[in-house]
Amino acid sequence: MTEDIMAENMQLVQCPSCSQNTLKMDNGCHSCLNEECGFSKCDV
Ligand SMILES: [Zn+2]
Repeated sequence: MTEDIMAENMQLVQCPSCSQNTLKMDNGCHSCLNEECGFSKCDV
């Protein structure tokens, strides 16, 4: 099984924590897809 984090339908932006383009924005919540980072934040 391979999980492609670069899926075209995902909007990935730069994570403020690990500085990689793995930050996923979802309904006002940000969550980093980088397993070594694990950054997540909800901004409402
Ligand atoms: Zn991160």
